[in-house]
Amino acid sequence: MGNRKDDKRIAVLASGGDSPGMNAALRAVVRAALWEHYQVFGIQNGYEGLLHNEIRELTSRDMGLIINQGGTMLGTARSAEFQTREGLEKAARILHEHRIDALCVVGGDGSFRGLMELSEFYKGQVVGIPGTIDNDIPGTEYTIGFDTAVQTAVEAIDKLRDTALSHGRLFFVEVMGRNSGQIALSVALASGAEDVIIPEERTDVEEFAQRLEAGRKKGKRFGIVVVAEGAPLPREVERARVLRAEAPDPNVKAAIAPEESPAFAWAEVMRPRIGMNIRVSVLGHIQRGGRPTSFDRVWGSRTGDAAIRFIKQGLTGVFTAMRGGHITPAYLFEATRGVRAVEPEMVQLVRKMGS
Ligand code: ATP
Repeated sequence: MGNRKDDKRIAVLASGGDSPGMNAALRAVVRAALWEHYQVFGIQNGYEGLLHNEIRELTSRDMGLIINQGGTMLGTARSAEFQTREGLEKAARILHEHRIDALCVVGGDGSFRGLMELSEFYKGQVVGIPGTIDNDIPGTEYTIGFDTAVQTAVEAIDKLRDTALSHGRLFFVEVMGRNSGQIALSVALASGAEDVIIPEERTDVEEFAQRLEAGRKKGKRFGIVVVAEGAPLPREVERARVLRAEAPDPNVKAAIAPEESPAFAWAEVMRPRIGMNIRVSVLGHIQRGGRPTSFDRVWGSRTGDAAIRFIKQGLTGVFTAMRGGHITPAYLFEATRGVRAVEPEMVQLVRKMGS
């Protein structure tokens, strides 16, 4: 590297799924670095772009008019090549050729795993900034984009509720979150849902039907059930899937096979069990985009700035974690140990409030 002390060259990239507020973090990294008189380089399209040498110097003006934009101005990508030893060596070589002293990566746990692997070959500092709508990274209470994604889903459910009320329907609404129920729980609580189905809990079909029936008997004519995309399927659907895989029926062509969507699968098994008119809505990728909430802009700005502070302090192999509401450095390996646990009280609270 051979740069003068206090004359660092910093590179920044976004990786994995995009999330609203990533731009605020990128902007903060760049402007905080320039404030320290560092040079900053943006890498386009994540680790894939790094492997293709898509690196350019960024100025403060490049970061204008993006704080209120969703997505990421540097693009993001998933890279299979980066997961090979050759890919990691090549990436390290490119960073060394550009004399990069430190690399900041905004992304999820997969991106952090990649950053740890890279640091086996790359001699500079590495710092992660948690950015994923899922809020599923262990070791931090928050990841950039979660607040916006929850807000987007809640606004959609507020609209669905009008139809649910007018037609006396029960809506099964599927939200994102990969293998985590964090988004589903917050969305369920904030939208006043009747119930929630999450990956962290094995939901029993009959007990669930009884809960919904009890609500109906108490006079509930309509309602919302929030289903996490990673929720387990009802046991009977799982069984049917196994049977179908063993002996596929060429005459059966459902528009959406129940096994592709937990919300559809749960709606299907509930239909014959409860006396309500059931509909399904899968919110999908609209939750990943849109203007970031002020919380995501503020947290993105604070963590981007903290990443540069950590670099100035000489830290490496760390990420900007939220603990007790404050920013603290945490080791990257902490973020790669499974999925952050949900609070069981939240599950109970959804049901208590929806009763
Ligand atoms: P999100 O959860 O929001 O999608 P993420 O960062 O977890 O974000 P992933 O697709 O899991 O998204 O990871 C992003 C990229 O990180 C991968 O495409 C890959 O290039 C790199 N990566 C993940 N795991 C490893 C690994 N073990 N070794 C090297 N690179 C990895």
